[in-house]
Amino acid sequence: MGTVKCIGILTSGGDAPGMNAAIRAVTRAAICNGLKVKAIYRGYKGLITKEIEEFKSQNVSNIIQQGGTILKTSRCEEFMTPEGRKIAYDNMMEEQIDALIIIGGDGSLTGARLFAQEYDVSCIGLPGTIDNDLFGTDFTIGYDTALNTIIEAVDKIRDTATSHERLFFIEVMGRDSGFLALNGAIASGAEAAIIPEFETKFDQLEEFIKNGFRKSKNSSIVLVAESPSLGGAMHYAERVKKEYPQYDVRVTILGYLQRGGSPTARDRILASRLGAAAIDAIMEGQRNVMIGIEDDQIVNVPFSKAIKNDKPIEQDLVNLLKELSI
Ligand code: ADP
Repeated sequence: MGTVKCIGILTSGGDAPGMNAAIRAVTRAAICNGLKVKAIYRGYKGLITKEIEEFKSQNVSNIIQQGGTILKTSRCEEFMTPEGRKIAYDNMMEEQIDALIIIGGDGSLTGARLFAQEYDVSCIGLPGTIDNDLFGTDFTIGYDTALNTIIEAVDKIRDTATSHERLFFIEVMGRDSGFLALNGAIASGAEAAIIPEFETKFDQLEEFIKNGFRKSKNSSIVLVAESPSLGGAMHYAERVKKEYPQYDVRVTILGYLQRGGSPTARDRILASRLGAAAIDAIMEGQRNVMIGIEDDQIVNVPFSKAIKNDKPIEQDLVNLLKELSI
């Protein structure tokens, strides 16, 4: 493969606040380095249906503060088939796109890895997901904004929970990871977090109740990760109603509001740094890596590492939540 002259950029999978800041950074850094930029709409779908447009610097004006993604996003079944990826590759060649920058989560980067294995194209991934579940980066784009949305919502629920002396189970997003639930609980002063990482290890509800959660409190809030393996907040509320009928239990599912909103300063800066670093990686001839951040330093993580490994939950954070919620 020769030198890269034109890059394609797309957002794929679940949207996350800060994706626009990343699109802006990629576009502008590419133009600064003399590269042409082609924007691909609706994720991998747009590569197959050829919804592609050349982007100039002004195409990304006034978007850094917007949530969602101006490129739209989608889940594309066709890209999961060899036939679909062949069409995507042919379209890329027709459009003279030499390298792809994919902003998305675990699934999107899995697709990118496969595509790069099958065809001689350079793919660079940016971790864009509110779940923070990608290995090889301390933070993903969108996570900080979602956390802030969660604590704002929990603060409000706390007011009513306290007034009525209720036990609230609040379900937050996170797919199969507990980062939003655990750190959301620490940041909002919640009493506990129920997370999928501990699902098979012990009964988290039982532990919460046995620890005497109501000794000196007139309200309790438990954040539950949405993971299917846990059964969601409703499952725990039903259990409490059955096993401990003395408690007045309520459930709130925060849902999609966690995906929206103007990105926080942290997410805008992270997205800007990672976006510019993606172009640096291309200029250095790097291929098939995810750009991440570790100890505030930019790192290039091979797809194989970022996708295959589970990002561990820090035990210190779990201990901290327990200690501070007495
Ligand atoms: P996320 O990127 O947020 O994890 P998904 O898991 O839904 O979201 O993946 C987004 C898209 O990435 C899918 O709709 C599909 O187009 C592509 N993708 C995911 N997994 C694969 C795979 N194994 N092979 C090819 N493409 C994939």
